[in-house]
Amino acid sequence: MGNAARALREAAQTLAEISDTPRLDAELLMAHALRMERSQLLLKLPDLQCPAEFDALIARRQRSEPVAHIIGIKEFWGLDFQVSPDVLIPRPDSELLLEEAVRLHADAPPARILDLGTGSGALLLAALHEFPDAQGVGIEASAAALQIAHNNADALGLADRAKFLLLDWTLPDWTGAVGHDYDLLLANPPYVATGVQLATDVADFEPRQALFAGKDGLDDYRIIIPALAQLLSPTGFALLEIGYDQAIPVTQLALDSGYSVELKQDLSGNDRLLILRPEKGLGFAEATR
Ligand code: GLN
Repeated sequence: MGNAARALREAAQTLAEISDTPRLDAELLMAHALRMERSQLLLKLPDLQCPAEFDALIARRQRSEPVAHIIGIKEFWGLDFQVSPDVLIPRPDSELLLEEAVRLHADAPPARILDLGTGSGALLLAALHEFPDAQGVGIEASAAALQIAHNNADALGLADRAKFLLLDWTLPDWTGAVGHDYDLLLANPPYVATGVQLATDVADFEPRQALFAGKDGLDDYRIIIPALAQLLSPTGFALLEIGYDQAIPVTQLALDSGYSVELKQDLSGNDRLLILRPEKGLGFAEATR
């Protein structure tokens, strides 16, 4: 067993070959091996010895296995979420949906929240954590993913306000079981075009059904957007995560369904989110025509 600080430096160099965040990865894996928080690790680093299992964890990461799979946890919106290969690992970019939800509902918190394709439950549970009087529903087509969402709801103490439904929106009449009058709808659906070559840690380790959405990556938006009218309350918002190059086609789908649309960029400056709301002026314009 050597010195932990030195082991971290060496591991970070090794991981630079496969990771954009080699030092962070090494710290998270070291903290996991030592069963301590990363902040504790950094504070105590000069006094620590490298734990025996560290090398094996680094070797797994070097074969592109995501850190979140190795440690079984991913932090999102300041909360710890259990993850597995059955769910998409929550991304920092998706926190933009929560930021906007908080902004849009600053005056009137949502009573009913719906998350389409909830996966680990990250978006729904973070929103329920943020809005303590809200009730939420998460729908998901994978039973294995839904089990993770349940575990996360339990672990975060949110199970009494979160309901999960096993539901596949590619089947007809799927909205019937979901309910209606949601004030806030969140969705990070699959949106990657089938031919796109993703990074190895995504392509080889994360669930394809959470990522790919047909030839142009728009298959799921084509289903979700026309269904919003049945799900949203007249004053509700839908926050849809999109791919960096999808603002125009997804906006068009939303306009076709009678929504007004606002586009937001993520921290890297990429188009990442569309805010849809029912076009209020429409009824009035028709009445006075
Ligand atoms: N942002 C994810 C990625 O690039 C894709 C998520 C999704 O399809 N919803 O890996």
